[in-house]
Amino acid sequence: MRRIRTLVLSIFTLAVVVAVIFAVIYKRPPQYYVRQGIAFGTNVKIACATKKKNAKAVVDVMFDELSKLDNIFNPYKSGSELYKLNRSNGKWMVVDPQLLYVLKYSFDFARETNGDFDPTLGKVVVLWGFNTDNPHKWRLPAPYEISNALKNVGYRNIEFNGNKVRLLNGIWVDLGGIAKGYAVDMLLAIAKSNDKDSTGYVDVGGNIGIIGPKYGNQPWKIGIRNPRGTMNDAIAFVYLYKGTIATSGDYERYIIMNGKRYYHIFNPKTGYSSNYFESVTTISKRGILSDAFGTAAMIGGPSKAENWANEFGVAYMSINEEGKIQTNSLWKDYEKP
Ligand code: ADP
Ligand code: MG
Repeated sequence: MRRIRTLVLSIFTLAVVVAVIFAVIYKRPPQYYVRQGIAFGTNVKIACATKKKNAKAVVDVMFDELSKLDNIFNPYKSGSELYKLNRSNGKWMVVDPQLLYVLKYSFDFARETNGDFDPTLGKVVVLWGFNTDNPHKWRLPAPYEISNALKNVGYRNIEFNGNKVRLLNGIWVDLGGIAKGYAVDMLLAIAKSNDKDSTGYVDVGGNIGIIGPKYGNQPWKIGIRNPRGTMNDAIAFVYLYKGTIATSGDYERYIIMNGKRYYHIFNPKTGYSSNYFESVTTISKRGILSDAFGTAAMIGGPSKAENWANEFGVAYMSINEEGKIQTNSLWKDYEKP
């Protein structure tokens, strides 16, 4: 009898100890696996935690995905899908499904923004030298060079037929204003399919997507860069539990000539950059939208940005050329933790 009682007691004690250990492990914030590096032609940082304990493997898969995407979307990488499409001389070409998807999205977005967003500015981008990150190559072209390059611009020259695409009129597609945002969506999908409760974030050259809240319940605090400040000089903060955020600005690739700033986002009607904003930061459910929206808003200016934001359900903060900050009502939801 005594032996049975002792046995029951020790089993009970063991059960309590095990329960306490589990509770402690469960309560402990998850360990973030963080990997940083250059991928997809830009700086990438990924932080991921999952109870499945395979965060490193998942993050490695995400980096692999980025190099796969680079072989599709990098128009300046010889042999990439887009490189081949840009050299297909107006012939129909079967393209990779991911390229097809982003081309169609870009085409639709171009139409919806009355052509302020235009994925066919390749020849203009190259003319200014903004296709490289070497500042010595950036230059102010002569007006006749710009008008020449503009002859080979216009999203309506992209034609679709099933899984085939053709480019007319000598246009060159450049998806620099949207591809990073699409990549963010692809990375988030990888993390979620491994573990829908995983948390962390991905940052592809300033296009950020939230995998899940920090430690499962806290927002990620994200700084918006002061366009006229240094790298770590934040002008505002937002707190995100989910979704994506992107910034387009006039301070990454630019030249100043005779006191005027020219940067790497162009008005497809003129071949020059606009001077409405120093930067536009956007928050939306999808990386592809956040990225494309910011690029379009830089060209469209304040009143179009306001209309598009209502139409697409995008929160945004713009900083104009006088440094004045403006936000829409949706943005307010993210200003506090
Ligand atoms: P970044 O890529 O520097 O983070 P953006 O998302 O604003 O910033 O993209 C800028 C890139 O978009 C340019 O380098 C160019 O490839 C492309 N681009 C330039 N002007 C336009 C435009 N009007 N519409 C769509 N894409 C554009
Ligand atoms: Mg963009």
